[in-house]
Amino acid sequence: MPIAEPSKRLGGMPPYMFAQLEQRIAEKKAAGIDVISLGIGDPDRATYPYIVEAMQNAVADPATHQYPSNRGGTVFREAFASFYDTRFGVAIDAETEVIPAIGAKECIYNVCFAFMDPGDVALASDPGYPVYTGGPILANGVPEVMPLVPELGFAPDLEAIPAETAAKAKLMFVNYPNNPTGAVVPEGFFERVIEFAREHEVLVVHDNAYSETTYDGYVAPSFLATPGAKEVGVEVFSLSKGYNMTGWRCAAILGNADAIREYWRLKTNIDSGLFDAVQLAGAAALLGPPEPLREQNEIYLRRRDLVVGALREIGVDVTAPKGTIYVWAPVPEGHTSTSFVELVLEEAAVVISPGSMYGPSGEGFFRISLTTPDDRIEEAVARMREHLA
Ligand SMILES: *Cc1c(COP(=O)(O)O)cnc(C)c1O
Repeated sequence: MPIAEPSKRLGGMPPYMFAQLEQRIAEKKAAGIDVISLGIGDPDRATYPYIVEAMQNAVADPATHQYPSNRGGTVFREAFASFYDTRFGVAIDAETEVIPAIGAKECIYNVCFAFMDPGDVALASDPGYPVYTGGPILANGVPEVMPLVPELGFAPDLEAIPAETAAKAKLMFVNYPNNPTGAVVPEGFFERVIEFAREHEVLVVHDNAYSETTYDGYVAPSFLATPGAKEVGVEVFSLSKGYNMTGWRCAAILGNADAIREYWRLKTNIDSGLFDAVQLAGAAALLGPPEPLREQNEIYLRRRDLVVGALREIGVDVTAPKGTIYVWAPVPEGHTSTSFVELVLEEAAVVISPGSMYGPSGEGFFRISLTTPDDRIEEAVARMREHLA
């Protein structure tokens, strides 16, 4: 007997385009071929020991075992306020301008439900994190993509947004350092975003997943450090990538107090907050020593240079990213994203991501993630040199 029909909103989600690629990977593995995956962006290294220790202590205390509050505990909120002050020079009111999120993914998705009615538009960076378009679709809204223009440093051209689209827009999703392009925020871009948001009454959501993962002396700013940002926007800060905590589901939303209150009001109907022990460990992470992060960024830097060097040897025109855990590059002449990804899989048994997976403007590019142990990256790079040069 068939089950009930799934909802129209679920049916409206784009089909999963890479089932075929996954099938090929599975077949190769089943045939005993040693496939190296440089596809997914999930740190391979352990959470830093001082954070694990803070978690062990926190979870041993029965006071953390009950329902947390959706507003978050004082320790968590004050740790974020202190971190934003010392790290970004941004003043955050721990009472009203920060609350926990169960990861940035949950936060971005639920912000759509807090602000979008049917037909409302969300402006989404393209290529971009898939929830910038999937969230609005599930909320019965309309995602409108803003192509990231390589000539503009992978920023969208805000003047190219049609007036009717801008008039219907409630939300705008931006993200620097950027996944998947590895770009850092171009000079003056946040200022232009704030101006646009004021003019069109749009809530800006800056997705900050990579500010602590940067290279070559580059220090990433918070969006909230731009004058006027707090009047029009929020920043979602995730501990997942910088602190190797993807499995912990620990993030916060900071900035505009009214926006944060609406998100909180929605969440009181949906989930029951972030585990208090995770909040305490997250607070410890933010207030911890700088060495583990520095050491980790040196490891990624070495991997970045390995990958960039090998790509240049096989004739790919690639720019070394100043931030994130990704190398983004155009596919060679005559290829589409998918055909090049298939070629690399066939010839080198290495999995890379097709740029088209991150939106229409990702077509013609591919992404390599640096979150694979050094020896495997070295092996992957050697195979690409050998089979693709
Ligand atoms: C990884 C990633 C996220 C997910 O963060 P979580 O806190 O683990 O949900 C969000 N945005 C971007 C751009 C990412 O790359």
